[in-house]
Amino acid sequence: MVRTIGVTLLLPLLAGAADFTVGSATAAGGQKATGYIAVPAGVDAAASIPVIVVNGARPGPVLALVAGSHGTEYASILALQKLAQAADAAELSGTLIILPLVNVASFAQKVPHLNPVDGKNMNRFYPGRPDGTQTERASWAIARQVVERCDYLIDLHGGDLDENLQRYSYWATTGKPATDAASRAMVLAFGLDHIIMQDFGAPVAPGGAVTLTRFAAGLGKPGIAAEAGHAGVSDAGDIDSLIQGCWNVARQLKMLAGPVSPVEHPLWLSSVSTVTSEVDGVFYPLVGPDAYVSKGMKIGYVTDYYGKTVWDATSPTAGVVLYIGAVPSMKKGNTIANIGEIAK
Ligand SMILES: [Zn+2]
Repeated sequence: MVRTIGVTLLLPLLAGAADFTVGSATAAGGQKATGYIAVPAGVDAAASIPVIVVNGARPGPVLALVAGSHGTEYASILALQKLAQAADAAELSGTLIILPLVNVASFAQKVPHLNPVDGKNMNRFYPGRPDGTQTERASWAIARQVVERCDYLIDLHGGDLDENLQRYSYWATTGKPATDAASRAMVLAFGLDHIIMQDFGAPVAPGGAVTLTRFAAGLGKPGIAAEAGHAGVSDAGDIDSLIQGCWNVARQLKMLAGPVSPVEHPLWLSSVSTVTSEVDGVFYPLVGPDAYVSKGMKIGYVTDYYGKTVWDATSPTAGVVLYIGAVPSMKKGNTIANIGEIAK
């Protein structure tokens, strides 16, 4: 009798015990492993992208968690680092592929928005190219080794060094009902109460920007993006909101036991308008993130370097401020604010 019980308990453990490898990280079932995705040298330098594989003791879906394609959006990077430390493979059904920091050069050199190696935005070039610059080669490696291997994906972002940001997530429709229903359940489970709606149904123009979630959606993989954090600050509340959001989605996907409490009445935002500066100078915001603004309302102004006001920034629409410039440095053409229009 004792022997029978032992065999019965062992079998489910063995069923999920196959090794799972991403880059140099190989985790046996019920184990966690760390390593790197190698981006070989090409027209510019090689790169190594840190990866953690948490291979559950039981079978289940593969959920990819990605952060740090913008390496100074610190809250998102610290969130995945802490989540990976806390993840317990023994409690997990399925596998987590965690990339806490895609853009290591941006993080190390404190360069916002871009990969300083090639000056490109690391969330615009999917599926990348094996013979392109470093951003394109890294995107190619992530496309093959992470996106194609996963069933679901969450891409974490936040306000960058120069952005004051209200927490929000994105939900995109693709025209495929099953994919859209799955990603909708994910974004509600994630729990942020501001949700921007996007349409991935229309084809991208040749040479147009393709983000990680858009590329994943094209492969039929449900995915969401979520943003928290601002202006170089590592706020515990921002970090925790992203960690809890990922755990909630893992519960909603039945990868972890426990209840899910989806956000019940999110503020759905139908479009986002960007306000850009028409002048060089010194920026002064007049509203903060999450402020409700009317069309034509003054949201900030720019002075010349002597302090004389030379331009007023006004909102092109009624809506809610999703983020606004956090620092005085302002160049003509740079973003002053993003305003979300509330869905009818
Ligand atoms: Zn970002």
